[in-house]
Amino acid sequence: MSIEKNLKKIRVQIPENVQLVCVSKFQPNKAILEAYHLGERIFGESRVQELCEKQKSLPGDIQWHFIGHLQTNKVKYIVPFVDLIHAVDSFRLLEEIDRNARKIGRVVRCLLEIHIARESSKFGFLPEQLIEMLKGEGWKNLHNVQICGLMGMATYTDNQTQIRQEFRNLKLLYDQLKDSFFSNEASFRELSIGMSNDFQIAIEEGSTIVRLGTCIFGERNCTVIT
Ligand SMILES: *Cc1c(COP(=O)(O)O)cnc(C)c1O
Repeated sequence: MSIEKNLKKIRVQIPENVQLVCVSKFQPNKAILEAYHLGERIFGESRVQELCEKQKSLPGDIQWHFIGHLQTNKVKYIVPFVDLIHAVDSFRLLEEIDRNARKIGRVVRCLLEIHIARESSKFGFLPEQLIEMLKGEGWKNLHNVQICGLMGMATYTDNQTQIRQEFRNLKLLYDQLKDSFFSNEASFRELSIGMSNDFQIAIEEGSTIVRLGTCIFGERNCTVIT
């Protein structure tokens, strides 16, 4: 199926209040431009070097989201242009993003990654850990990051009940944190859940951002990089 046909099929399934991030990791610039010319502006990448190369050679009005695990020593490369960092999984990383953003006078939007899956990802805060961090006041002094919500990945499984339960738990946590720590922060409003195999469930459970790769671009060829 073509990118155009795939996008047509997907767009009708995504409500207006849910943002589509086209996950373009391992996809060539040609594929990104095809989606761009069909109207897409938000693209997600998971590796710093690949993102930086693509950002330099593709249209300037693309909003680049970093969706992968981010190492603190690579923060400086993406802070100048990144629109949203999805997977902040430690206070140290948040501090490092803040420090780099302050140097260049930017405020960088971030999501906190929660470990919800039983096995899929080893990254992310445990809910208790995150609550501990938020109880500490340290994060409030980081004026060059804006915490916009939570991100999570469900277990990679065919068990839809399990996926739904994981998303539901994350939405409950999101509501609880919003109430306890961000009730005056209008910008805390995003829940980044849903990938190609589970985005319909994620939308039903309250997703505001879905991250779709395979169902738009087809299978990734992980050995060929643009
Ligand atoms: C690769 C990736 C996606 C997209 O996965 P698909 O199954 O191809 O839709 C979404 N989120 C993250 C964090 C990813 O690494």
